[in-house]
Amino acid sequence: MTDAVRSSKPRVGFVGLGMMGAPMAARIAEAGYPLSVFDRSVEVMAHFGSRPGCHPCASAADTAREAEFLVTMLPGSPAVAETLRGGVFDALPEGACIVDMSSSEPLVTRTLADEAASRGLVLIDAPVSGGVKKARDGSLAIMAGGSPADVARCEPLLKCMGASVFHTGAVGSGHAMKALNNFVSAAGLVAAVEALHIGASFGLDPRTITRVLNASTGRNNSTENKFPQYILPRTFNSGFSIGLMVKDLRIALEVARASGMPAPLSEACLDVWAQAERALGPQADHTAVVQFWEELAGSRIGAKPQLE
Ligand code: NAD
Repeated sequence: MTDAVRSSKPRVGFVGLGMMGAPMAARIAEAGYPLSVFDRSVEVMAHFGSRPGCHPCASAADTAREAEFLVTMLPGSPAVAETLRGGVFDALPEGACIVDMSSSEPLVTRTLADEAASRGLVLIDAPVSGGVKKARDGSLAIMAGGSPADVARCEPLLKCMGASVFHTGAVGSGHAMKALNNFVSAAGLVAAVEALHIGASFGLDPRTITRVLNASTGRNNSTENKFPQYILPRTFNSGFSIGLMVKDLRIALEVARASGMPAPLSEACLDVWAQAERALGPQADHTAVVQFWEELAGSRIGAKPQLE
């Protein structure tokens, strides 16, 4: 790509180059946007390296100077708020658009959007689903909350990273949608894990359980993808941690409470995932949640129960 093509595109600042942020930022650079990047981890910055059109920065505020778009892909609202209030709000040129692609808290997002507006800036939420694989190939599902005009303005940039961009409504609605998606995903995963464990203890082969579920009404994304890729071969390397899943479940419950809706299943789901987080640690891959069931049962899936 020539420098002329690159300079015809607006500058993008990108903060947070973790499991998801690194491949997403790489796609923006490959699409020809001049890109300034920052992550607070020195190792992460070194690993991302320098690539054509990409400028490593010493701070989040430095990525914001001269940027028309500033993308955040951070652990959640506390890091996003710290980043924006800690220099990015001040450094962005007037009219610039902040795109929070992290899985954040919708009510905090609304507050940050109001603060942005009072400074002549725009903020939309555009969280993603699809995991590291889809981040690499640019086929994420993106849920964008903001005014139609603001979302339309960001769409060419979002399309470098996602196969589908859904306009979910006003600012904060993307973050609410993302938390609800992850509640459904987390509940489906642990329901299938529990069935796998019970069935295997009853003498069924785990591979048979998976095949039958996938040809039957119990099928879900976990039985179709996570079981064969990460759980049955015990690689537990999907790239999404238990800590982040628990955070998303807490957000889903906050959305339910803020809406005044009963949410008994969300509460039960959060409770069991929080127990698994305490047992396995927040950095464990979320597909390793199966080991929490093994700990409860005192036996490994596929092995005979070893309780006294
Ligand atoms: P990660 O922990 O791998 O990456 C987060 C990065 O942010 C780290 O590199 C960390 O050093 C950096 N960081 C943290 N605080 C910072 C700060 N104040 N300033 C600058 N950098 C900071 O997380 P991830 O898996 O890439 O997830 C990022 C977001 O995407 C989370 O909100 C997560 O819930 C969401 N998400 C993750 C996945 C997945 O499969 N991993 C999928 C969809 C959505």
